[in-house]
Parts: sequence; C-alpha cells; structure tokens
Amino acid sequence: MLNILILGGTQEAAKLATKAANLPHIKVKVSLAGRTSQAATSKYLRIGGFGGIAGLIEYLQAERIDLIIDATHAFAATISHHAAIAAENLQLPRLMLIRSEWELVEGDKWIEVENIESAAKILPDLAKRVFLTIGRQELTAFSQLENIWFLMRMIEKPASDIVLPQGLLLLKKGPFNKDSEKRLLEDYEIDTVVSKNSGGSATYAKIIAARELGIKVVMVKRPMLPQGESVEDVESALEWIQEF
Ligand code: NAP
Repeated sequence: MLNILILGGTQEAAKLATKAANLPHIKVKVSLAGRTSQAATSKYLRIGGFGGIAGLIEYLQAERIDLIIDATHAFAATISHHAAIAAENLQLPRLMLIRSEWELVEGDKWIEVENIESAAKILPDLAKRVFLTIGRQELTAFSQLENIWFLMRMIEKPASDIVLPQGLLLLKKGPFNKDSEKRLLEDYEIDTVVSKNSGGSATYAKIIAARELGIKVVMVKRPMLPQGESVEDVESALEWIQEF
C-alpha cells in the first residue's frame, strides 16, 4: 500500500484525489488549509495548517506518507516551499501539479506586476472602475483607493476582519464563459481588470473578454515556487503515481 498526501485547495487536487483513490494499492489523504467553509465530506480529507515545516514533517512521519503531490494554487507559495523542504528532509518523492501560466497574446493589454501591493499602487494612474478577481484574502490592499469603484468577485464572502474597498461584492463560482464575462465588464462599465496569473481554463474567459473589449488587465505575476518535478494536468500526475 502506498500512502499519498495531496496538498489541495484546487479543482485539480480534488479531481486527482478521486481518481487516485480508485487506483489499486493507493491510500489517499487530501489536505486543505481550511480557508473555505467546504465541509469535510470525505474520509480522505484533513483540514487546517500543519504548524509550519516541523509540523508537516511530523504529519508525514505519523501518517507514513510515501509520496507528496503539491496540487495547491500557484499563489500558495508558502505551503509549496514547506512541502519541498519537508520532502527533501525525509527523502520523499514530491510532484507539483500546477496549471500552466496564461501567456500574453496579441490584443492583450496587460500591465504585469510583481504582487498585489504593486497592483494597488499603480491602479490610480490607470483606472476608475475595476473588476477585482483576486479571491477574498487580499482585498484590503485596495481599500485606500478612494477614487476607484470595485466590482469584486469571489466564491465566498470575505472574513469580517478584511477591510473592503468601495464597490460591489459578487459571490460566484466559475467556470465562466466569454460572453457572460463580456456582458459583466460592459454592464459595470469596467475599464481595468485585476487578476492573478492563475492559469488554467476555468477563469480564463475574463482575460479573453478583456482582450476583445480592449480593456486593460493588471496581471499579478506568480510568486517564486520551489524547484522540482512538475506536471500541468491530472492525468500526468496519475501517471507519476503509477511509476512507484
Ligand atoms: P500559503 O500562503 O501558501 O500557505 C499559508 C499557510 O496555510 C501554510 O503555511 C499552511 O499552514 C497553510 N496551508 C496552505 N495550504 C495548505 C494545505 N493545502 N493544507 C494544509 N495547510 C495549508 O497558502 P494560501 O495562499 O493562503 O492558500 C491557502 C489554500 O487556498 C491553499 O490550499 C491553496 O491551494 C488555496 N488557494 C489559494 C489561492 C491563492 O490565490 N492564494 C487561490 C485558490 C486556492 P502551516 O504552516 O500551519 O502548515
């Protein structure tokens, strides 16, 4: 029996867990940070931080984990670095399952920035009405921008300690399609989109919509992720598991 830990929080992680659990001689554990109210519906699930690198190492040992698949979001860099160090420490094979980045194509009007703070800093020079699609944890960075109105889309309401920028919250879960994204941008007279370069297809429609409407996109670049073997899709991750 091979014990696999999947670090989750993405659709890919959930898909991989379901498929891997059906493989013979595999026991799957999925770990979530616990940021959303998603119920612990599965016996494969564990929820909450490990308590840093030391806590993660302890968990890996206690659960006799043989393989780690880091299927966390591209912007969840801390846990990815922790996983890399812990795996190295225990000499465990580790794979990153990570969506390919979106690439600039002809017609895109991207302004690429290093992080969320830089995005907030340049907005006053560019924008009056912004579609902010960065999730719900980092909205406070935009709360001081008094002359900008924000349409903020996320899956769940932000925590009560998050200071919101002025504007409207839109609680919706993707995938979204190009036509509805175009309508949204037009209906709210958006002049600038702020997005993380999350990659993948589920939320790419807003980028196409902005391109077709000639709307600027402030694109937050990915943080530095650890070195190591990586794949871009669930099937390749399953193949990797089957090598052991
Ligand atoms: P992060 O900054 O990399 O991690 C912060 C801390 O949260 C980690 O040190 C760890 O706590 C805990 N943690 C993160 N992912 C975990 C996991 N899968 N299982 C157990 N503990 C985890 O992560 P984040 O950006 O806050 O993201 C949290 C979760 O949301 C991730 O699972 C990620 O896949 C998902 N997510 C993030 C984004 C985003 O834009 N950041 C978008 C979509 C989904 P300890 O040090 O105590 O172990």
